[in-house]
Amino acid sequence: MAKDEAYKRLIQDKRWRKMRRQKLSETPLCERCTKEGRVRAATEVHHVVPIESAISEAEKTRLAYDFNNLQSLCRECHTKTHTEMGSRNRDFLKKRKAQQLVDFEDKFLK
Ligand SMILES: [Zn+2]
Repeated sequence: MAKDEAYKRLIQDKRWRKMRRQKLSETPLCERCTKEGRVRAATEVHHVVPIESAISEAEKTRLAYDFNNLQSLCRECHTKTHTEMGSRNRDFLKKRKAQQLVDFEDKFLK
């Protein structure tokens, strides 16, 4: 996960620490484990839509403090989720590049 300066600032904020605590007390079990039939305590709070996917500062702040954008996860699921997100992004970029090439060929070479 790319942690830029704005992200670091948000995560160190008192407001975030409070929200994180609130999320973990409302949803103390790992949401992914629960979905997959395991019962495990959550220790981390994940942003479903990554903060760094936002372009503007305002959007980053909105994503960071949107309670509906949070997910309680155990460390293992958090790592797994980020690994999957990373490879999804890579696939997406690869597909987009391939599509651009097709568009280019359609436009200029046919
Ligand atoms: Zn889990």
